[in-house]
Amino acid sequence: MKIEIIKCLQDNYSYLIIDEKNKNACVVDPSEAKPVINFIENNQINLKYILNTHHHYDHVGGNLELKKRYNSYIIGFKGDKDRIPEVDILVENNQIWKKDNFEAKIYHIPGHTTGHIAYHFFKERKIFTGDTLFSLGCGRIFEGTYEQMFNSLNKIKELPKDTEIYCGHEYTLQNSNFCIANDSQNLKLKNKIVKIKEKLKNGLPTIPTILDDEIECNIFLKAKDIKSFSKLRDLKDNF
Ligand code: ZN
Ligand code: FE
Repeated sequence: MKIEIIKCLQDNYSYLIIDEKNKNACVVDPSEAKPVINFIENNQINLKYILNTHHHYDHVGGNLELKKRYNSYIIGFKGDKDRIPEVDILVENNQIWKKDNFEAKIYHIPGHTTGHIAYHFFKERKIFTGDTLFSLGCGRIFEGTYEQMFNSLNKIKELPKDTEIYCGHEYTLQNSNFCIANDSQNLKLKNKIVKIKEKLKNGLPTIPTILDDEIECNIFLKAKDIKSFSKLRDLKDNF
């Protein structure tokens, strides 16, 4: 399985998960259709599945055009069946979604929205976290509670430490400023920031990030309890 990172809109990432044996692919959160179509046409990919992490426009904006063009199936959370455009296959918490050679475990991780899910391709040790876990940050709490978001992040934290995290936005640099302001003695974080700046200077994504790094550097994953997590989330909203 190969992952292709597709830049969309201002700072969104969509991902193509490509089975190199037959060129079948899934796309995760197509914010817009055009950049996805460009890659597909240039590389003769069969876009079979569209995986949505949540219903926000910058994650489902390309759904309809891609579905129409490639006859793809749209996968989304059961509870969001009325707000994920044209959803075909509904999934729920802890379910294994399996089609062709693709196999992912679904985690319901509410907080950013009530219906947010992650797709964990456990055999490949990759997880698509949408707007819940970012590199060095986490999503804003729009619909859920602090407690839900805290528990959702803890679920991800329990995965194997070498899991690669693919999130919905390139927010890493802004996030790193908040982390270092609140964790100024963290040597591993300092080293990570050097690498982040290097990548961005060369026009490269800072994604994927590794869970192990996030556990040591992401201040939101270091929060011990809901109270300290909530305080950090409030501080970040006004940072
Ligand atoms: Zn969102
Ligand atoms: Fe988003």
